[in-house]
Amino acid sequence: MKENNCIFCKIADGEIPSATIYEDEEFRAFLDLNPASRGHALIVPKEHFANLFEMDEEHLKKLIVLAQRIGKHMKEKLGCDGLNLVQNNGEAAGQTVFHFHLHLIPRYKDDGVGITWKPGSLTPEDKEELTALLSQDLPRE
Ligand code: 5GP
Ligand code: ZN
Repeated sequence: MKENNCIFCKIADGEIPSATIYEDEEFRAFLDLNPASRGHALIVPKEHFANLFEMDEEHLKKLIVLAQRIGKHMKEKLGCDGLNLVQNNGEAAGQTVFHFHLHLIPRYKDDGVGITWKPGSLTPEDKEELTALLSQDLPRE
């Protein structure tokens, strides 16, 4: 299903041209318009899902396998030293395009790309409370 006025739906189905590096029935991978590093690409499903929470398991399984395949290819072709997979969900998490996308950000030694946060510290109280809270009722499958 496509969503009206969704830019990534239009890119995914080829209505808007993109620098596509890979395409199959369900996914398209293309270069990010404002790359964090050389080779920064996005994988999008052709079906519209706003974010991770909306995506179905079949797509998710295929997505991670595809990410590995493209990531290996990037290492070989670009000679990158590392790779960040980044995937933002919700405005608070920095999502700006509300059609699921996975960033593949090739990393190069001393490239200065900042995907970091200020490390806090896990207090004994938080550790106890959060472990109890988050381990409870977590569905297995
Ligand atoms: P987000 O912040 O939602 O995780 O990332 C959205 C990404 O999409 C950004 O890195 C941005 O540069 C990229 N982007 C936004 N619009 C376009 C577009 O029209 N074409 C391409 N190739 N990338 C886009
Ligand atoms: Zn869409």
